[in-house]
Amino acid sequence: EEAFVYSRFGNPTVTMMERRLAALEGSSGCIGTGSGMSAILMLVMALLKGGDHIVCSQSVFGSTIRLLQDFAKFGIETSFVSQTDVGQWRAAMRPNTKLLFAESPTNPLTEVCDIAALAEVAHAGGALLAVDNCFCSPALQQPVKLGADLVIHSGTKYLDGQGRVVAGAVCGPAELIDAKFVPVMRSAGMSLSPFNAWVVLKGLETLSVRMQAQSARASTLARWLQEQPAVERVYYPGLASHPQHALAMAQQSGCGGAVVSFVVKGERAGAFATIDATRICSITANLGDTKTTITHPASTSHGRLSEAQRQAAGITQGLIRVAVGLEDIVDIQTDLQRGLAGLA
Ligand SMILES: *Cc1c(COP(=O)(O)O)cnc(C)c1O
Repeated sequence: EEAFVYSRFGNPTVTMMERRLAALEGSSGCIGTGSGMSAILMLVMALLKGGDHIVCSQSVFGSTIRLLQDFAKFGIETSFVSQTDVGQWRAAMRPNTKLLFAESPTNPLTEVCDIAALAEVAHAGGALLAVDNCFCSPALQQPVKLGADLVIHSGTKYLDGQGRVVAGAVCGPAELIDAKFVPVMRSAGMSLSPFNAWVVLKGLETLSVRMQAQSARASTLARWLQEQPAVERVYYPGLASHPQHALAMAQQSGCGGAVVSFVVKGERAGAFATIDATRICSITANLGDTKTTITHPASTSHGRLSEAQRQAAGITQGLIRVAVGLEDIVDIQTDLQRGLAGLA
């Protein structure tokens, strides 16, 4: 008889979270995992074998790039291509390509990929498209509605929303989840803890209002930053100056999301002075919290790259990333102004 016999295989609280997240994403199935990274590990283990090939954006989360590169030792090769140039994705397709992997918008430069166009490329080549929907969450963007087959989540970010737990999930067709993913979960055990699933369930109850409110604050902050003499450039999909502004508005329910990046005058010293002068923002590389977090990508998320690799990726020393929370935006502007005032 089918039942909850052991929590590595299935658990009532985890199942409730999976059903609600699937409903939000518009997919028929979902499987919770212990972290966002273990969701990606499970994706590759469930769908690919030695000799298969992946096409992936070169701008995805750093650990995702490292994990996919690690699969080379099992005979699974990954080609990394431009986030925004669909032609590069098409050109990278091979007869053995089984999976396309994208993330939109990206961290920290908020580059947006055309999910519907990538789904077409994937399906024309007999492959599946997986989209990491961490930055928008289903409250703003539903990749399945745009043609994606699978959606990856780090529940650690906006789904929890208050920096309390590490969690992850893969959403997709129920038949595919049952046939390919559940057996991997049962044997490999990247299971989500019921307590963490319960915390994410509480987070999902406020996801929509948090995403709307944090995105609105980020939009106000991005517009304000554009006018500051100490700020050289602002990266935010909600700004008309963003190269994929129209696409982002169409894909993301007219919202830019809650992450804003910007370049200050004075390179590394200017960025450090701005970050160190803050009193409200938390200095941390995490994101998705209701408390605003601020980080220096060149020395944290992209700290292990060479200076040449960083330049190629557009991660300059003056770049600062802010993941906007729920504080009054004037308080955040005042907090940033403390450091910016000395740079102009
Ligand atoms: C944080 C993050 C992940 C990894 O999630 P964890 O829960 O930390 O394992 C994957 N993708 C993106 C876009 C992320 O921001």
